Amino acid sequence: MHSEQFTAEPSPASGTDRPPLMFDVIIAGCGPTGAMLAAELRLHDVRVLVLEKETEPTSFVRIVGLHIRSLELMAMRGLLERILERGRQRPAGGFFAAINKPVPKSLDSGHAYLLGIPQPVIVHLLEERAIELGAQVRRGCAVAGLAQDDDGVTVELADGEQLRSRYLVGCDGGRSTVRKLLGVGFPGEPTRAETLMGEMEVGVPQEEVAAKVTEIRETHHRFWLRPAGVGVYSVVVPAAGVSDRAQPPTLDDFKQQLRTVAGTDFGVHSPRWMSRFGDATRLAERYRVGRVLLAGDAAHIHPPIGGQGLNLGVQDAFNLGWKLAAQIRGWAPEPLLDTYQAERRPVAEDVLDNTRAQTELLSTGPGPEAVRRLLTELMDFDEVNRYLIEKITAIGIRYDFGAGPDLLGRRLRDIDVKQGRLYDLLHRGRGLLLDRTERLTVGGWSDRVDHLADPTAALDVPCVLLRPDGHVAWIGDDQQDLNDHLSRWFGKPAS
Ligand SMILES: Cc1cc2nc3c(=O)[nH]c(=O)nc-3n(C[C@H](O)[C@H](O)[C@H](O)COP(=O)(O)OP(=O)(O)OC[C@H]3O[C@@H](n4cnc5c(N)ncnc54)[C@H](O)[C@@H]3O)c2cc1C
Repeated sequence: MHSEQFTAEPSPASGTDRPPLMFDVIIAGCGPTGAMLAAELRLHDVRVLVLEKETEPTSFVRIVGLHIRSLELMAMRGLLERILERGRQRPAGGFFAAINKPVPKSLDSGHAYLLGIPQPVIVHLLEERAIELGAQVRRGCAVAGLAQDDDGVTVELADGEQLRSRYLVGCDGGRSTVRKLLGVGFPGEPTRAETLMGEMEVGVPQEEVAAKVTEIRETHHRFWLRPAGVGVYSVVVPAAGVSDRAQPPTLDDFKQQLRTVAGTDFGVHSPRWMSRFGDATRLAERYRVGRVLLAGDAAHIHPPIGGQGLNLGVQDAFNLGWKLAAQIRGWAPEPLLDTYQAERRPVAEDVLDNTRAQTELLSTGPGPEAVRRLLTELMDFDEVNRYLIEKITAIGIRYDFGAGPDLLGRRLRDIDVKQGRLYDLLHRGRGLLLDRTERLTVGGWSDRVDHLADPTAALDVPCVLLRPDGHVAWIGDDQQDLNDHLSRWFGKPAS
């Protein structure tokens, strides 16, 4: 096990009369990140409790969609069909700074589309799946204190109840209580511009709305009215003139801002919900302090441009789940859990940077508009267009696994194998040796790693070792070299 440095301040939960260790992992927050992590941990029989402060799931529809990598993750866990039924497929392009270009033909994925699906539906599906797999979810329970020691973490709830687990993961959103209790810094830029967002009815014909929106969006990119169901529109408008940031926005605020930007309030009425969001950009200094980890918005926030935040959080959970499970099951090699921060923090840094760049590209003024025109021209080059789409959809990620061929550290696409599709073989969250030589073996690692000998697999290398998250951990054809890499990622072989 790790030798861990505990730097959290003692909290009211510290003391010698600790409650019994009832859970392996407590997750604070049942948003998309927490629900995904709970399901991933359950694949490995980890005892999981999810604590969610809200008594009911939120109805705020915050999301544009699931991008390619998240859809691939769903396919890897057998969830794609369920999710596809609830969303609408749209072209994967047009998301970088809302510059509309066709999807390049060379995009390397079997799932090269965006799935438009509201965030509450995703959370519902992921929570349902976590519960099906055996996770416990307790709503109306807010984490308020924590104390950690050599054996575990004592978690104190807002009502004073204490619970104990071996690890705690803060998936409790941008204002994360867990991050604050740990004293982990969250440096970055504060909100500069706020935006109002809500769902409501309009009092003018649909064609009139569409024509006006097209005209206004020529210059105002933080503005839209889009149909969001029968008779209901999703409305987004800058909040610049709304002064009291502490109060929830009102219908009058929406009307006033619509008149300022569009010259008409479209007769909006009967709001379903109304909210406000900012464009702060921040990244946690650390993702782990001893037995407590951070994931999703608790670790990083950025403007919603390009629709990446939920996708990023779900992918954090996918990276962390099998590593934390390995730690709890006792087979994790020494640095495995720390590779979570080493791999995922640079990915978040990159997302923060691309949203900063997109914010500039969406600004008004001769400078940003000239840069936008230039980039729009450059995106006519297939390579540029593809590079930016791969960034937004997260299929361009390459983790640093050391020197090796370009495929090393990247995710493998969903290729054809003799039993069907590759991703169907990853449903149980185990490693996989895909072996075209038919000479290799996973030996003492067979309890953690599956072996598919398939000379017909659509690969242009002899063999790959895939981690449970589908990233390529090794390429080659030598058994000893393979064994070294099995040890590196999957610990000691069973005797
Ligand atoms: C307007 C808007 C549009 C967006 N559009 C997109 C998009 O198209 N695509 C995309 O990928 N992302 C989008 N995002 C970002 C996305 O909504 C977030 O990145 C995502 O919700 C993060 O998920 P999470 O699970 O990490 O955190 P959250 O969704 O914030 O969930 C955290 C959960 O923790 C709970 N909680 C908080 N404190 C405690 C506590 N002390 N104890 C227990 N529970 C607690 C909360 O109630 C909540 O349920 C958008 C965001 C906004 C504002």
